[in-house]
Amino acid sequence: DAGELEIPFVRELAEITQHMWRNGWDERNGGNVSYILSEDEVAEYIDIHHVQRIIKPAFPVHELRGKYFIVTGSGKYFKNMLSEPGANLGVLRVSADGEQLELLWGLNHGAVPTSELASHFLSHIERLKADPSHRAVIHNHATHTIAMTFIHQLDEKAFTKTLWSMCSECIVVFPEGIGILPWMVPGSNAIGRATAEKMKGHRAVIWPHHGIFAAGSSIDEAFGLIETVEKAAELYMLVSGKDIQQRITDQQLADLAEAFQVTPRPGILNL
Ligand code: 13P
Ligand code: ZN
Repeated sequence: DAGELEIPFVRELAEITQHMWRNGWDERNGGNVSYILSEDEVAEYIDIHHVQRIIKPAFPVHELRGKYFIVTGSGKYFKNMLSEPGANLGVLRVSADGEQLELLWGLNHGAVPTSELASHFLSHIERLKADPSHRAVIHNHATHTIAMTFIHQLDEKAFTKTLWSMCSECIVVFPEGIGILPWMVPGSNAIGRATAEKMKGHRAVIWPHHGIFAAGSSIDEAFGLIETVEKAAELYMLVSGKDIQQRITDQQLADLAEAFQVTPRPGILNL
């Protein structure tokens, strides 16, 4: 529907989910996105006084009361979001008491927000505390990142060091490193709490044998973070088991951090 794609934030989500699907990161309904919108940008395109439907979240989110989000629908395919935005995406507001979700647009035919809403909402709460400019959370099934969780130890510092040493930009893009959860059942409040706990000090959290969560001040920032982690993981999968002749040293990583004025998480580089 051309009309729906004239709404800038609808177009942005429809396009980014299409990119992720084309990258092979979002088979079937894999992956979900949530993005904080300002009241003004929503009101420009959508009647914010007309609540289409009330949706009950798994738990109240008082910290997000009054906030507007565009979210992907549960069970919806990233492949289809560009051709049918209204059936696959929804714009909602957390009610003034934080107890309900007020659907303002989309999620047509009774669709509901992503089953990972707990991880999204709780991550938004933590990232907003850490970074007032925070807006976006993206989850997907980035292929090489998942592959790497089978053959690399799941220690956060060791995993981060390996990713940093795969390409020169990594330490600049995620100097705070990568958070890693133990394997957990997806879609649960427990994995939401655990993800958000990691989001206090990281913007990227890996779910072993499942995928990645990333946060950012924009869709591009969160997406770019996943691209960078995934690129490093792909390089790791390409070179692991091979006869490596040379690598980026810890001193070179420290030199990179200094040159780009970022502070690497302590305890990872051996200098
Ligand atoms: P949803 O379709 O409910 O968003 O779930 C997809 C997914 O990736 C679960 O982790
Ligand atoms: Zn998933």
